Amino acid sequence: MSHVDQPFWRRKALDQLSQDEWESLCDGCGLCCLLKLEDEDTTELYHTRLTCRLLDIGSCRCSDYQNRHTSVSDCALVTPDTVDELDWLPATCAYRLLAEGADLHWWHPLVSGDRNSVHEAGISVRDWARPETGVPQDQIDRYVIRDPSRQRPRRERE
Ligand code: SF4
Ligand code: SF4
Repeated sequence: MSHVDQPFWRRKALDQLSQDEWESLCDGCGLCCLLKLEDEDTTELYHTRLTCRLLDIGSCRCSDYQNRHTSVSDCALVTPDTVDELDWLPATCAYRLLAEGADLHWWHPLVSGDRNSVHEAGISVRDWARPETGVPQDQIDRYVIRDPSRQRPRRERE
């Protein structure tokens, strides 16, 4: 395959992408929308299985995407400039993969052509997360999980 036949994410650097290309890279896994707790002593971050109140768990999409940063003050701003700093992004995150020089996986909707493949492959939070709504602040630590990208066995490509 010649260079021009390559998909945009292989041809272009992250900071060369159009807004639409950038947005299309999000696989819709919802992993970055999990609540995290920080150990005050070590600054280590712990993921929980609780999702931001704005995440629609069924679709793993933000229910107020346009206003997400004003609606939720600690919603992560993922850009070509910040992706390296956001070292808690899951190893499966398309932005992290490309920033590290890797390629997208087979289940990424841009590769599979199917927005469901991220769920069917067991990558998304859809089948095991629960909303933060209604969980008292002092009970959030009960929901800490070890590795958010491995909550469900992944289905390998057949
Ligand atoms: S972890 Fe990355 S790919 Fe998954 S929803 Fe968040 S930004 Fe999108
Ligand atoms: S505001 Fe939307 S994009 Fe941001 S963490 Fe919450 S659900 Fe995710």
